[in-house]
Amino acid sequence: MNAQRKSEHFDLVVIGSGPGGYKAAISAAHMGRRVALVEKGLEGGTCLNHGCIPKKTLLYMAGLIEDVNALNGRGILGAIKGDFYAALAHKEQVIANIRDNFPVWLKRLGVRVYKGRARLTGPQALTVNTSCGKRLSLQAGRIILATGSEAAPYAGCPTDGERVINSRDFMLNLRAIPRSVLCVGGGAIGVELAFLMHQFGARVTIAERGPRLLDKPCIPERASNTLERKFRRIGVDVRKNVTVSSREVHGGSVVVHFTDGSSETFEQVLVAVGRRPRIRDLGLEQAGIEVDARGFVATNEYLQTTAPEVYAVGDVKFGPMTANAALHDAKIAATNAVSGNQLRANYNRVPIVIDSALEIAAVGLTELRAEDAGFEPDTARANFSGSPKSRGRHDTEGFIEVVHDEETGQMLGGCIVGPEAGEQIHMLTAACQSPKGLWFLKEISYSHPSWCEELENAIDPYMASFIQSEKSIFRPGIYAMP
Ligand SMILES: Cc1cc2nc3c(=O)[nH]c(=O)nc-3n(C[C@H](O)[C@H](O)[C@H](O)COP(=O)(O)OP(=O)(O)OC[C@H]3O[C@@H](n4cnc5c(N)ncnc54)[C@H](O)[C@@H]3O)c2cc1C
Repeated sequence: MNAQRKSEHFDLVVIGSGPGGYKAAISAAHMGRRVALVEKGLEGGTCLNHGCIPKKTLLYMAGLIEDVNALNGRGILGAIKGDFYAALAHKEQVIANIRDNFPVWLKRLGVRVYKGRARLTGPQALTVNTSCGKRLSLQAGRIILATGSEAAPYAGCPTDGERVINSRDFMLNLRAIPRSVLCVGGGAIGVELAFLMHQFGARVTIAERGPRLLDKPCIPERASNTLERKFRRIGVDVRKNVTVSSREVHGGSVVVHFTDGSSETFEQVLVAVGRRPRIRDLGLEQAGIEVDARGFVATNEYLQTTAPEVYAVGDVKFGPMTANAALHDAKIAATNAVSGNQLRANYNRVPIVIDSALEIAAVGLTELRAEDAGFEPDTARANFSGSPKSRGRHDTEGFIEVVHDEETGQMLGGCIVGPEAGEQIHMLTAACQSPKGLWFLKEISYSHPSWCEELENAIDPYMASFIQSEKSIFRPGIYAMP
């Protein structure tokens, strides 16, 4: 091994080039700081290589197959089918293109990129073992950890990378859709990949150990139930309150034993039971960085670790394990690292989007969580069955919910289930951050026909009673409050 020692100094060194890492590096570079970014694997992290982007690219096609087939006999002649192999080739081209531009883009912004594994040797120092066998030493005023996460193993159903796979195996290695597949876990990744495989021809079963799909406090139960109904209608078998106790791989199939005593054979099994932070061999102890009881890097509200010079963003610290949250963290940690602690993380401001048989997006508080937080919440609703745009597309499932405070008209949050929910949610996010509260949604001129106009239809009856009761002063949305 060609061991070579160099030491360079940067204002900030970021470890990891996923959405948390690259956004933090760019933000600090925009603030005029000398920044380095270290990446041991593929540039772009989980999100670009085996997460959000490949998934969204494939799901777009899965959704198109459904949309076009819904209009078969209504102006479209004949049903269409997906070609998974060709879809994979398209997905790989998209990813390679973005990845190739990555170093160019960072270099243009003045960020120095090191390819290699980083290890902390202190709170302001690290080594980088590069892929060509060199060992570099870097000094840093501040360090941001953005090392992300990996699929959590599940003892009842260990993966083998072939018959029993996780989402990374799926995105990087799967070459054909199995005839039958069991998705272990009905969380975001489970329901998204279940729909994808169903649309490309698999017989899909989901085993969810909890009482509902997407069992998260930020997703209202009504959204989970609507998705489950849709799954049942299109032929995805949803089993709740059950999981896998053991499995046996026999050549080309997997025999699965369930906790309810039943057994069944599948061609493939996808394990999607959550993710765990990537902290192995990072040198946390040498830098004085503590880990919390769940195994995540412990941070305060400024995203500062127990070593004051080191911050952590994204999946490696506790919080929503989404690219959206990692991007939110990145702006906060970069600002705090560069200019002193001034911004606080607040995940109620960050939307969550799930793209499955229905698109589901939510932001802020559900009615239940708003009640717990001491508000007097009420929920304004409109169903897409009443939307002319939805009727024209023969796609009328789903709804919009606007959670607000009954007394003050304060925006507390909301959820959208239906077409382009992941785009529409930005309207609710903006309303939650507006000084005008609920009035923000009334004041806008909407395009007609559009999906977003359903926001106005949902809140109209509430606005009318507000105005008639002369309570026409709306408090700012909760996230616009000082
Ligand atoms: C199948 C799937 C679909 C998803 N879809 C979505 C979605 O649609 N929307 C959404 O918001 N979220 C989605 N997510 C979640 C999202 O991908 C993650 O939350 C996000 O990537 C986390 O970003 P991060 O920057 O924290 O870490 P990562 O993206 O995991 O990046 C971490 C990087 O750090 C590098 N690294 C680790 N250790 C070291 C080291 N010691 N030295 C150097 N480099 C190191 C890794 O190689 C990696 O490249 C999805 C996840 C999966 C698995």
